[in-house]
Amino acid sequence: MTDSAALPHPAIAVTGLSKTYRGQGKAAPKEALKAVDLVVPRGAFFGLLGPNGAGKSTLINILAGLVVKSAGRAVVWGHDIDRAPRLARASIGVVPQELNMDAFFTPREAVEYQAGLYGVRRRDRRSDEILAMLGLADKADVYSRTLSGGMRRRLLVAKAMVHDPPVLVLDEPTAGVDIELRGQLWRHIQELNRAGTTVVLTTHYLEEAQALCDRIAIIDQGQVVAVDRTEALLAGFDWKALSIRVAEPVAAVPEGLAKYRAERRPDGSLYLQYRPSQTKIAEVLADIDQAGLTLVDLTTQEADLEDVFRKLTGEGGGSAAGDNVGKTIDPTERRGYEARPWSPIDS
Ligand code: ADP
Ligand code: MG
Repeated sequence: MTDSAALPHPAIAVTGLSKTYRGQGKAAPKEALKAVDLVVPRGAFFGLLGPNGAGKSTLINILAGLVVKSAGRAVVWGHDIDRAPRLARASIGVVPQELNMDAFFTPREAVEYQAGLYGVRRRDRRSDEILAMLGLADKADVYSRTLSGGMRRRLLVAKAMVHDPPVLVLDEPTAGVDIELRGQLWRHIQELNRAGTTVVLTTHYLEEAQALCDRIAIIDQGQVVAVDRTEALLAGFDWKALSIRVAEPVAAVPEGLAKYRAERRPDGSLYLQYRPSQTKIAEVLADIDQAGLTLVDLTTQEADLEDVFRKLTGEGGGSAAGDNVGKTIDPTERRGYEARPWSPIDS
């Protein structure tokens, strides 16, 4: 990570960016972006999250010079896309959402061809280095059609890197890629980021974004509804839950635990909720002890990006806060509860 504060300009700066697609035939015009403001610091691993149709690809494609904006300003690596389109375009490498692949090229040929398109001089080309960086060195001379899905994605990343852009943008790069290959792809992308490349990615895999991105913007219906450091976005929820098993049979919730909105579950466990900013876990454990209970087992739950995402975009429908009452928590299942964490203790 680069110290972005010390640098003169961010990797990407977008202000009032709007896009309305003209409707085809009788179709109504579609306002895909509505005055979006967004800053991606240099060196960031930036996640752009949003449901289908939110406008993510539109935003990325405007930056890449593939879609013409309707209004607003976009600056890539200090270059305004209107005033210095060539420099702006040279600063960004885009891995498109669709897998478009020339089956009869070898990876080396594909990368060389792309370098030619970008006007990279022969002596400045680093095709072998780029292929090696993406784990494709031993596949450099096979036909691309024989590559696995994961390898094809990595070849697209290699093609996006031929002109050595400081900003790499990946649009849904792991859609349709199996978990193992996703892991490989991410290791390569993380390496590029550590080496200084600013990475922007859109993904539907919230867990992936949570694990990888240091900063996240959530976009919904053409508007940015949240943008923050990943931890800050999650910390904003200020909610944790404990599910505990105790040695003693518990017929009712002990009075001393009422402040945690404790509930007794059908399986005999107790479910407690608290605000980490106000209550330390040690206090909760002390109160359990005070209530005369002997802890046998404990699992915790905290808000994750899925909760943030659902709250901000209204996705996933979900149940009302009270619906989780009486539901069994299955600790083996990550989303084994249907509580909407922001509501039970937001009075
Ligand atoms: P996302 O990538 O977040 O799924 P898109 O940017 O692809 O969203 O699309 C945003 C909205 O713009 C959607 O409603 C989509 O149908 C519409 N849209 C995208 N591309 C076009 C186009 N070329 N013509 C008309 N409408 C489009
Ligand atoms: Mg898209």
